[in-house]
Amino acid sequence: MARRIGETGVRTGTPVDAIERAENGLTVRAGGEAIAARCVVCAVPPPVAAKLLGPLNAGMGDILAGIPMAPVAVVHLGGDATQNVPPGFGALIPRHYGIRTLGTVFVSQLFPGRAPEGHFVNTAFIGGTLDPEAMKLSDDELLAVARADQAKILGIRDFDFADILRYTHAIPQLVPDHPEKIDDLRARAAKIHGLVLAGNYLTGVGIDHAVGSGYTAADGAFNLTAAGN
Ligand SMILES: Cc1cc2nc3c(=O)[nH]c(=O)nc-3n(C[C@H](O)[C@H](O)[C@H](O)COP(=O)(O)OP(=O)(O)OC[C@H]3O[C@@H](n4cnc5c(N)ncnc54)[C@H](O)[C@@H]3O)c2cc1C
Repeated sequence: MARRIGETGVRTGTPVDAIERAENGLTVRAGGEAIAARCVVCAVPPPVAAKLLGPLNAGMGDILAGIPMAPVAVVHLGGDATQNVPPGFGALIPRHYGIRTLGTVFVSQLFPGRAPEGHFVNTAFIGGTLDPEAMKLSDDELLAVARADQAKILGIRDFDFADILRYTHAIPQLVPDHPEKIDDLRARAAKIHGLVLAGNYLTGVGIDHAVGSGYTAADGAFNLTAAGN
């Protein structure tokens, strides 16, 4: 984006505080600025979208705020690569195995540069809708769970690096009435001139769907602006 529209056109680390209707589109308020836009692609997670879009249409705010969000704690564990991480992507762990970790990804086998030479890093996911209490565990407790589970799953016990991140609103849950709610949301959004939606809550939470929603949003934005609107 910076290459295409110029460095000054891109503002990172600048949370949007509000989106307001304007005569010829929308006004985005961020970092003390009021930015006039013919088209706004709103690609923030549902709880934030609820706050930004609720004032434009209360029904949109309600639908977005009502999307359940699963909490997830992410524990990165690194160690000496002489310990055998099996080849592959990682593992998802069915709940009846009695293992608290939901899944583990062998990150350094997937992407270059994720661990120093001769080392590995695995990521463990703990929590989810069935185990929200996991978010209340201390760092030491989370680490203990992740380490014990890596030992059970992979036989790996020696780690020399650990890092913990907690996402309280990590993953939207696409519950049975979700498609109808999203249809309603889209119909409401279509009535707000210049507004386009994108994000993992629209058609699916996987990266492929999230990225796909970006392409669809880009088409929507292009159509709006190409039509001279
Ligand atoms: C722990 C975890 C593991 C996952 N693992 C996988 C996996 O292995 N495979 C897979 O396919 N999918 C996985 N997913 C799902 C997938 O990664 C996400 O669904 C997807 O990346 C979400 O994309 P998004 O663009 O909708 O949202 P995000 O990537 O969350 O983007 C939303 C953006 O909005 C920004 N933002 C928030 N508030 C504001 C504001 N006020 N103003 C401006 N910007 C704001 C945020 O900073 C963020 O950059 C995982 C998700 C999680 C949480």
